[in-house]
Amino acid sequence: MHAKPVALVTGANKGIGFEISRQLASRGYTVALGARDERKGAEAASRLRHVGLDSDSVRLDVADPRSIAALPAYFKERFGRLDVLVNNAGIANDWGLKPSATPVESIREVFETNFFGAIAVTQELLSLLRQAPAGRIVNLSSGLGSLTLLSDPNSPLYGTNALAYNASKTALNAFTLALAKELRETPIKVNSADPGWVRTDMGGPNAPGTAEQGADTPVWLATLPADGPTGGFFSSRRPIPW
Ligand code: NAP
Repeated sequence: MHAKPVALVTGANKGIGFEISRQLASRGYTVALGARDERKGAEAASRLRHVGLDSDSVRLDVADPRSIAALPAYFKERFGRLDVLVNNAGIANDWGLKPSATPVESIREVFETNFFGAIAVTQELLSLLRQAPAGRIVNLSSGLGSLTLLSDPNSPLYGTNALAYNASKTALNAFTLALAKELRETPIKVNSADPGWVRTDMGGPNAPGTAEQGADTPVWLATLPADGPTGGFFSSRRPIPW
């Protein structure tokens, strides 16, 4: 069995996912970068290896059941273990659309990646994570998934009324909570992370934060000690309301 703990980060070829991978590898993890484009994944992993970080890439489209089904064999054959799963892959397609006019097909498309994709990857890898001494699952959510913040007229998020994206992250939070409750008696911790608004292809050039800052809370949750929290929703390492 591989000596170092092993992590899978989905959607890791760029943005926050790449930065989470870099930070986990810097902390001594062997990181498998999941990418739907095999070439982009291989290039991202080789950028990390160039600076001495232990990484590999694995083709993974979280909306494609066949690529998900191939994951357990990859981890078993290559490492014999999986310790950390970061469900980071995400899309948004409805900024500026009115909820009353958002095509149901667009909502389905976002849910396929942001919600069903995260569930399918987790279910496929759960038996490996159960064998790990300290399994950790981190779901990349968003403050926009918080119904409490979205319904507060004083919240800066109040005006971002993107039904497909926001609801997909609310649903992802529901998965976090439900799975954490199911796994309460195991060493596995399951938490949601809000990375904050950060400059990536999704966040755009006007976001105040860097990908490095956005990766901090997810990496903290991925490396929690045994007495750390489970079933929570965190931003800047602090709990935020569902
Ligand atoms: P990004 O720069 O657009 O990167 C998204 C990543 O997800 C890319 O690697 C993309 O791959 C991948 N991806 C998309 N669909 C996929 C699929 N079906 N299968 C596998 N990979 C897929 O976005 P980001 O800002 O880094 O966002 C990362 C996560 O943080 C997302 O879940 C997002 O919702 C969340 N988030 C971001 C912000 C922000 O301000 N940026 C705020 C709150 C939450 P390709 O390169 O192939 O497209």
